[in-house]
Amino acid sequence: MMPFWRFGSKMKVRSSYYRGVILFGHLGIGSKLASPWKRGLPFGVLLVGTMLPDLVDKPLFYSGLAPGLITGTRTFGHTALLCATLWAVGLAIRSRVFAALALGVASHLLLDNFVDRFVPNPSSEGLLALLWPFLGTRFPVLPYRTIGEQVATVFQPVMIGAEVVGLALLQWHFWKSVHRTEIVESATEIIQAKRTRKLKRY
Ligand SMILES: [Zn+2]
Repeated sequence: MMPFWRFGSKMKVRSSYYRGVILFGHLGIGSKLASPWKRGLPFGVLLVGTMLPDLVDKPLFYSGLAPGLITGTRTFGHTALLCATLWAVGLAIRSRVFAALALGVASHLLLDNFVDRFVPNPSSEGLLALLWPFLGTRFPVLPYRTIGEQVATVFQPVMIGAEVVGLALLQWHFWKSVHRTEIVESATEIIQAKRTRKLKRY
């Protein structure tokens, strides 16, 4: 396998899955997607969960271990099986940490497979990882020869859009957390003012 530092070698674009790396997209959009179910779960762990599939699979692939099996950056970490296992462990031992991880991973898988539909030459190759081993025992083959080639593809419109939206959502979340007290106070003042106005009318 070619070492990752050989950035800039000629890029081959083949019909395959996922063209880049989404960081803020997974953190921001992923945590927003998970919001209906995240109540009572540790938010920091949820954020880790939104990145967990890439944290597992990218080092696994670029370390060069088992190249016959680990054929890309979507392998064990990107399976619904891993997500279901985390969820089942969370339920069995009543762990909010595992539940938060499972929720984060679910959002990551959803977003990856959604983005697959909006890149040039989309294919269903990514589903091989998501539904592994039910569609076969092989994983999708990464179309890039170096990590540099993969990172270079982040400049596609769908990737840039996901990063911008994800970053904005994260900033909004942290702004709300920091200003929670002021927001509650202002809302209470508005409600009280409305009540006073109503009372004066009667
Ligand atoms: Zn991924």
